[in-house]
Amino acid sequence: MRLASLTVAALLLAQAESAAAFCRSTSCVGDCERDFDGCKVEGAPLYWPSLCVGFALDAQASEHITLDVAREVVRRSATTWSSLECPKGEATLAFVETEPLPCHVAEFLPDGPNVNAILFQDTQWSYKSADNSLAKTTVTYDKTSGEIFDADIELNHAYNELTVGDEEVVYDLESIVTHELGHFLGLDHSLDFDATMNASYNPGTIELRTVEQDDVAGVCAIYPPGRAATCAPTPRGGLAERCGPDDEGGCSVARSAAELDVAPSVLFGVVAACAIARWRLRRRRGSR
Ligand SMILES: [Zn+2]
Repeated sequence: MRLASLTVAALLLAQAESAAAFCRSTSCVGDCERDFDGCKVEGAPLYWPSLCVGFALDAQASEHITLDVAREVVRRSATTWSSLECPKGEATLAFVETEPLPCHVAEFLPDGPNVNAILFQDTQWSYKSADNSLAKTTVTYDKTSGEIFDADIELNHAYNELTVGDEEVVYDLESIVTHELGHFLGLDHSLDFDATMNASYNPGTIELRTVEQDDVAGVCAIYPPGRAATCAPTPRGGLAERCGPDDEGGCSVARSAAELDVAPSVLFGVVAACAIARWRLRRRRGSR
């Protein structure tokens, strides 16, 4: 009987470890088949082909958080994900910051130029679950290959108080940006409760500022050491340095990534990752 009990215990342990596996985002949208870890098994896994990816903060930043402060926070998060240590060397992905974005817009233009934008929404949140979404990352990619063309992160300051300090934390900006940058890189939510890519966040904490073993394993799988590629941080179609083709009327002429998603003939797909649920308590492994 003792042997049988040990066998069952070992099986449970194996299942627990299996459930702690990272997931990659894929080109499959909607009701996709998933494996035991909750990972999509349909569609092409998403990835950036370059060794480095550029991003830019909205020059307007937020009425609550200055550009300088926001840049420091985002730079720390980007550094957290850069050049991670894998078992056989460094992961081949790093971030490069470009000049602040002149337009308050998250979009992808198939004919370029583009910016991988990080911006605050201070006054409105035009997505579902406005009152419980902390952020949203929109990734545009090639539906066949999974190559990522563009990624934009929007931070919901309209319905949430985002804070930057180590004390009196409400919703910690660095934790949220670090989680969103994981989506930016092609990671989906993980069932590992310790992972920064777990879908839940415990308000008032700064615990998602760091990446954990499961997150690192995910980046190492997507961007393994020795990957044959070059560093090309310029966004697809060139870097957008001004608003709109005529520099008039803001950026309203651009087609949005969402519009691309519903056009049946285009090659692009869009995955709107995230929205960390703000009401769920972050659970530790084994507590479920
Ligand atoms: Zn998320």
